[in-house]
Amino acid sequence: MSASDQRRIAVIGAGIGGLTLAIALRRYGIGVDIYEQTSELREVGAAVALSANATRFFEQFGLTTELSSRWFEVSALIFRDGRSGSVIGRHDVGATYRKRFGAPYVGIHRADLQAILSAAVGLDSIRLRKRLVDIDDSGARAMLRFDDGCTSDADLVIGADGARSFVRRWVLGYDDALYSGCSGFRGMVPMAAVPTLPDPTALQFWMGPGGHLLHYPMGHDHINFLLVERHPAPWPRRDWILPATEGEQLRHFAQWHPAVVEMITARPISDRWGLFHRPPLGRWTRGRVTLLGDAAHQLAPHHGQGAGQSIEDAVVLAACLKSGSGTLADALERYERLRRGRTRKVQYASISAADVLHLPDGDNADRRNARLASLDGALHHLSWIHEFDASRQEPSERQGGTWL
Ligand SMILES: Cc1cc2nc3c(=O)[nH]c(=O)nc-3n(C[C@H](O)[C@H](O)[C@H](O)COP(=O)(O)OP(=O)(O)OC[C@H]3O[C@@H](n4cnc5c(N)ncnc54)[C@H](O)[C@@H]3O)c2cc1C
Repeated sequence: MSASDQRRIAVIGAGIGGLTLAIALRRYGIGVDIYEQTSELREVGAAVALSANATRFFEQFGLTTELSSRWFEVSALIFRDGRSGSVIGRHDVGATYRKRFGAPYVGIHRADLQAILSAAVGLDSIRLRKRLVDIDDSGARAMLRFDDGCTSDADLVIGADGARSFVRRWVLGYDDALYSGCSGFRGMVPMAAVPTLPDPTALQFWMGPGGHLLHYPMGHDHINFLLVERHPAPWPRRDWILPATEGEQLRHFAQWHPAVVEMITARPISDRWGLFHRPPLGRWTRGRVTLLGDAAHQLAPHHGQGAGQSIEDAVVLAACLKSGSGTLADALERYERLRRGRTRKVQYASISAADVLHLPDGDNADRRNARLASLDGALHHLSWIHEFDASRQEPSERQGGTWL
């Protein structure tokens, strides 16, 4: 047994990143203890779109058959003018995409994804109702304290505790969340409830000055949407959610295309979600504690890459920890070197995407539309993210690219 097999590893958070890490490590014979604050692993009310840079690993983990019975493969990527509904760019996804990128582009309910990942991890490795409230890394091992008074120790602590990460705050010393200037309403509507929607199986951006609608199919004959509005400024509360009144979602969008209005009024509207992100960190690791997923690099959602980048982190961190040689510090150093630059570029592309989607009418919007109409133009802002195989490739200096 190598030194790496004997390390006691604590993962904080049984979300997409934490569960994927546990699956990836198990393939190398390395076990972990996962501590999750909720009493039940059930994320309701939202879906995620996963591109090939994430779905390729489900094949490697032997989970594709199970997942593919729940996910819905996106048929096309379509950019539209949000007010007239006219098509600005239409690009086939489906089999064409799979051939180009080596894995599918899908939408899936988060509850389905989490259920399949947690079953693959095994519930005996996941300790529920354990909200981490303190870390003491001054002794021979890191000591963890949970809100129920229990303690545990570990040689390595991985903060996969999401967008409002306690572990990031501990590593950094303060909360660095930044309001992106946009807020969103999230919803899931049955396909039957949006009969006028053109191309319901496509992932579509309806773009316009000051806002956009993104939607994609997610299985169960439903469509998941995120309606983004450049409002309010500044964000008025400490928490990230504002109660919304019915009809508030139409404030900016009432005069948009009827299919947009149909979708965002098909069901009672969600709360208004402030869209926050965080600046890139110079270091992700402090002593025996490191970060993964949103805790390391929370993204604005406009590139649909939060879960994808968390999955890439997990695959890379597992490979770094597998190597029997070298110290833990070496492994973490390598993990950061492989992940910080790439996620920084995805963070930048994600936040700047909103500016491009929300351009006012004029020359810049015309240039954007011309770019998105061509396959090369659309691939320019997607390929460097979707074609990447984090298990085999190192990010190149040149990888990156914004929408214009
Ligand atoms: C509106 C919106 C739309 C999005 N759409 C997409 C999309 O289409 N595609 C995509 O790839 N991504 C999307 N994302 C982002 C994606 O959901 C996240 O990036 C992803 O879930 C991050 O995974 P994670 O493992 O880091 O965190 P999470 O999956 O959030 O998991 C964190 C876990 O840690 C637990 N936890 C938190 N604090 C503690 C604590 N102190 N102690 C113990 N446990 C704790 C939580 O309960 C949770 O289970 C979207 C996000 C938003 C806000």
